[in-house]
Amino acid sequence: MSKIVIIGAGGVGSVVTHKCALNKNIFSEIILASRTESKCDAIALSVKNNTGMDIQTAQVDADKVSELVDLFNKHKPKLVINVALPYQDLTIMDACLECGVHYLDTANYEPIDNAKFEYHWQWAYQERFKERGLMALLGSGFDPGVTNVFTAYGLKHYFDEIQYLDIIDVNGGHNAEHFATNFNPEINIREVTAECRHWENGQFVTSDTMSLHQSFECPEKVGNYEVYRMYHEELESLTKHIPTIKKAQFWMSFSPNYLKHIEVIQNIGMSSIDPIVYNGEEIVPLQFLKAVLPNPGDLGKSTKGRTCIGNIIRGKKDGLDKSIYIYNICDHESCFAEVGSQAISYTTGVPAMIGAMMMLQGKWKDEGVFNMEQMDPDPFMEQLKLNGLPWHIMENDLPWS
Ligand code: NDP
Repeated sequence: MSKIVIIGAGGVGSVVTHKCALNKNIFSEIILASRTESKCDAIALSVKNNTGMDIQTAQVDADKVSELVDLFNKHKPKLVINVALPYQDLTIMDACLECGVHYLDTANYEPIDNAKFEYHWQWAYQERFKERGLMALLGSGFDPGVTNVFTAYGLKHYFDEIQYLDIIDVNGGHNAEHFATNFNPEINIREVTAECRHWENGQFVTSDTMSLHQSFECPEKVGNYEVYRMYHEELESLTKHIPTIKKAQFWMSFSPNYLKHIEVIQNIGMSSIDPIVYNGEEIVPLQFLKAVLPNPGDLGKSTKGRTCIGNIIRGKKDGLDKSIYIYNICDHESCFAEVGSQAISYTTGVPAMIGAMMMLQGKWKDEGVFNMEQMDPDPFMEQLKLNGLPWHIMENDLPWS
């Protein structure tokens, strides 16, 4: 029975709040805080209607440590679930240290004026969290998050040594919009327009954005999709913590329509994060674009199709070559029926709730800053099945060359 604060009332915030409320034997008191309190109130109403649980709401600017400290001192939570934006990770970690609160997030810190997804800013908090006897769990979404746990599960149960890792994220879904991103548009466009990096022979190798792609046949008739190699943050932690990995790559599916829009957005300068002066005011083109694009939290009603996200892992077992594909398939319409959100918010919000559950139940307990693959994967994998994200494993005969 623990009190938690959730920060961020977007698509993911809505799912994680619903899912925590569905597990009220663990999350006995929930405070949902965000920049715009009316969005918290709307989620609180929906949670009350769907689960019967009353939750409290609050306004906070999570860029300001002092406001966070006031919030935490007022409510004295045991844990904070950060599902605001990556820009707020460090201020929330600072406030957790000051108030003695455990921390969890779903995306690594990046400075607002420099689109770099790297863990070193947060790993630098290791000693401070340890000294305070606190735990920070980083990247408890789907990717990063479940993909890290899938890798750890593979290593624990199927391999003596992992050598090759391909993480494949297919969104076989479509919605009624001409162009929409399925999570925060600013973060999404920063991510997909970044230079590609993959891990090979002990170092990251860079290549042009979207320069390598191939087709991928998803199981269970989800379909055949073109997947593009890109950088994703779990590659950094996984290759650090599992040093036998020789090559690690991340692939994501994009439709021709999505790529056409991204190309135009880039060509006309709207993906830029460098401020410009417009009518005497400084604006950032990408932030302006975000303001006119559809809100991912509103896409649930019109999104149909399924996601298929998983890991192809290859390595050695008992001296022999071995390979597995471990994956989850998630249906957009079922997610909407359950919590009023599309599958991308759902597949992020559920693992955030489960990571918090692991910490509050003491199944994942340590002092310092941790990535998901450093924890025992078994209790987390068990909870995925119980909370709407069942997973499956194929051995050897895999849909990937
Ligand atoms: P949204 O943009 O829908 O929601 C973000 C929320 O954070 C909004 O409610 C926003 O407030 C709030 N917020 C932003 N800045 C502040 C601030 N300074 N203080 C307080 N609140 C703030 O994003 P998503 O829900 O789509 O994504 C949430 C997080 O999840 C992101 O960090 C994203 O990168 C991560 N993510 C992780 C995935 C994974 O698999 N690991 C996959 C998808 C997303 P306001 O409403 O006022 O704008």
